[in-house]
Amino acid sequence: MSHLMNTYARQPIAFTHGHGAWLVGEDGQEYLDALAGIAVNGLGHAHPQLTKALAEQVARLIHTSNVYRVREQEQLADRLCALSGLSEVFFANSGSEANEGALKLVRFYGHKRGNPEAQTIVMERAWHGRTLATLAATGSEKARRGFDPLPTGFIRVPYNDIGAIERAAAQDSRVQAVWLEVLQGEGGLYVADREYVRALRALCDQRGWLLMVDEVQSGIGRTGQWFGYQWADIQPDVVTLAKGLASGVPIGALLAGGRAAGVFGPGNHGSTFGGGPLACCAGLETLRIIDEDDLRANAVLRGEQIRSGMARALQGEAGVVSIRGQGLMIGLELDRPCSDLVGAALAKRLLINVTHERVIRLLPPLIISAREADEIVARLAPVVRAFLTPIAARAA
Ligand code: PMP
Repeated sequence: MSHLMNTYARQPIAFTHGHGAWLVGEDGQEYLDALAGIAVNGLGHAHPQLTKALAEQVARLIHTSNVYRVREQEQLADRLCALSGLSEVFFANSGSEANEGALKLVRFYGHKRGNPEAQTIVMERAWHGRTLATLAATGSEKARRGFDPLPTGFIRVPYNDIGAIERAAAQDSRVQAVWLEVLQGEGGLYVADREYVRALRALCDQRGWLLMVDEVQSGIGRTGQWFGYQWADIQPDVVTLAKGLASGVPIGALLAGGRAAGVFGPGNHGSTFGGGPLACCAGLETLRIIDEDDLRANAVLRGEQIRSGMARALQGEAGVVSIRGQGLMIGLELDRPCSDLVGAALAKRLLINVTHERVIRLLPPLIISAREADEIVARLAPVVRAFLTPIAARAA
């Protein structure tokens, strides 16, 4: 019997090693990885340059402490600020933890502005994490069920609806921030309209609110820009990152700029592990490789290839509701719950995921080649077709 706490419905497979977009199972078979550890392994597996940099870093230094200066952390903060346009970074160890920092920042911001009951406007279908505060901000009732009392301070509105935010704010003068994913990942791969994101920026400026963007899943090149909000050509006050930032070495980052800069001072927030030399080395190397190998452009091209390939291959299938997403953050919505597809794809040695009950989610590594992108379509389309119309029904 397993001594692991029973928190995951796992697939019946473990992997021994990987290379590029491929993982090798204990069964000796090669699996095409169209999930990349849920948007973590942007550089695929065992990337030679990353492996070398990490091995050298481990041999040099793994951890000191945030009571000292950490050069790798300073360098990664410089790089993230240059790429994002924000001005300061706090390093944590996961997306949830970066988001907790963002929520503490809103509260502190509220207190400083004479509003000790800061409310944050959050979205339906949002996903911000599993800690108590991030869970309270998360839209999924299923994830929240049974965990009351959750922290308060959130007003939930429909996504992509600027009027809903204006109405909510008219009824509550305690609002200090609006928080969203510009491309909802767990919530079903919904993309925010650019006009909506721009209107949010204007509204936040008008009211003195913080515009906060959770880029934990959509950041670090995945959508084809360093950060998803860059498609809307705006600058948030707060951005959170994790997943793809250090290619699998745990990291989280809370970026602040504009009116969110300078809110925290010494003693207001901290972390033992956050921003350690190993994770920051992994972050620096990840950003360098994405830049040098032009992987953002690759994400745009391969994403388009997979979406159009799937659309062609599934043409005429009435059960396909929509194929959407941006770059290599791709969703195929079906008209029925389809979590069984994960096992069906695994049997074809393809790793995928299903989110929001009926949305097939593809998050391949950013290094994926054109041939591998075609291979994802070639393996997935027949599995989806067979699921929607079983062979027995076709014959009938
Ligand atoms: N925010 C978003 C947008 C996410 O997709 C996730 C993870 N799925 C989180 C936050 C939580 O990140 P973590 O699991 O690293 O705590």
